[in-house]
Amino acid sequence: RPLLSIRGVDKRYRTAKGATVQALEGIDLDIAEGEIVAVIGPSGCGKSTLLRMVAGLDDDYTGAVEWRRPPRPGKDIGFVFQEPALLPWRSVAGNVGLGLEGRKDLEGAEQRVAELLDLVGLGDFAKSYPKELSGGMRQRTAIVRALAYDPQILLMDEPFGALDAITRDRLHDDILRIWERTRKTIVFVTHSVEEAAYLADRVVVMSARPGRIRAVHRVPLHRD
Ligand code: ADP
Ligand code: ADP
Repeated sequence: RPLLSIRGVDKRYRTAKGATVQALEGIDLDIAEGEIVAVIGPSGCGKSTLLRMVAGLDDDYTGAVEWRRPPRPGKDIGFVFQEPALLPWRSVAGNVGLGLEGRKDLEGAEQRVAELLDLVGLGDFAKSYPKELSGGMRQRTAIVRALAYDPQILLMDEPFGALDAITRDRLHDDILRIWERTRKTIVFVTHSVEEAAYLADRVVVMSARPGRIRAVHRVPLHRD
């Protein structure tokens, strides 16, 4: 069974003037455990809406999003936005370990934060504050923060969109290293076909008005 099945999902938004916008129509998609899926398509085709529905950030839709194991509330879905939303008054380690400090096993939590930071080359920046980091470093922090609770899935909405090309390349390799280490299921939205082909096992191509899945391409494999 897939990790996640999206079945016949339709999504309409009501605008302030009372009109409706059909953002998604007839979305069917299975996500297998451990795969990396890219979602591409023109602006307004519903990519963010789809991700938010999977994340449970929006439950006002028809159709079904079915999980093999029900996600633990607040823990099983890691979400990364285009702009890393870090807390400025907490250190890098404090941001990644957010919520972990209440745990009984504090040492285990600290060790987990250290491992996550090492995974993206930020081990030396644990005590730094977000404003002391480059944009790429902040996004790497946001990505490992999303992994802190060992979620079933990592969802990322244009995670590299705000970064320059060199920083983006570095982040791509971080994502592949994270995948190699954790075999995490990853779904991300991008505008870049190149990025989709480089990172993903499958590429979901959407079209707009209403947002539909136009094609799903399997990328000839570059990973085991
Ligand atoms: P994408 O991420 O592919 O750019 P979105 O999911 O953001 O697309 O939006 C899909 C469609 O839904 C667009 O037509 C957009 O204008 C509309 N939409 C998104 N959010 C809202 C909202 N809160 N209210 C009304 N319409 C919305
Ligand atoms: P980006 O992810 O934006 O490309 P990098 O981590 O590649 O940033 O930054 C390049 C190098 O610059 C890093 O290896 C790091 O050593 C150094 N660096 C970046 N920001 C800082 C900072 N605030 N303090 C100290 N060194 C920094």
